[in-house]
Amino acid sequence: MERTRFDRVAGLVFDFDGLILDSESPGYVAWSEVFTAHGCALPFEKYSACIGTVNGFDLHNYLEQQEVSAKGQYPAAVILSCIDSRAPAETIMDLGIGDCFNARVAGNIANADILGSMEFACKLAGAKVVLVMGHTSCGAIKGAIDNAQLGNLTGLLAKIRPAVDATEYSGERSAKNYGFVDAVARKNVELTMADIRQRSAVLAEMQTSGAIKIVGAMYNIQTGVVEFLR
Ligand SMILES: [Zn+2]
Repeated sequence: MERTRFDRVAGLVFDFDGLILDSESPGYVAWSEVFTAHGCALPFEKYSACIGTVNGFDLHNYLEQQEVSAKGQYPAAVILSCIDSRAPAETIMDLGIGDCFNARVAGNIANADILGSMEFACKLAGAKVVLVMGHTSCGAIKGAIDNAQLGNLTGLLAKIRPAVDATEYSGERSAKNYGFVDAVARKNVELTMADIRQRSAVLAEMQTSGAIKIVGAMYNIQTGVVEFLR
């Protein structure tokens, strides 16, 4: 099979760099449809003239993307993800300059400022998908499980606690149990999606009218898989 960047964006499975997308889930379908429907189409098509090839692998040409996007931005999505250095959303999703908004905060929770940012992204700047992306082995989730106390972090972790309490899990409920940590992270994505709908009348109305879709995903830092939640 010939390996191209388009195939990677289209969600086909590769082994050469370990980045894999679950291409059959409704969330991924929403994610890929929006790039097609957004006028700028898939990032590959949008920047087809901006992609070079090195050693057989297609790469972004960030300089050209910067110059193209300087005239105006038409991002397809807004992503809410964690600050974890191993989970940079644009890199994981193979996106370039101008492709998406990205709000990053420990534990990918929504607060008023992030909701305001998302409302700007969707209502004023035309983004069509709100993607909440959690990840495995999340330190913020572990901190919330342990009730860690540290300066302003205490208040942030308190926003994750509802996910800890709401997670149904039969094994050991501790931060040392990665199975539990990842189950809480997944629940936290679900609750954050619900929180966005509940606390943002702007985004809830846009979702109801079909103007946007709100989807969730989990990034597995061990395997490189982005799993869209069903
Ligand atoms: Zn994290």
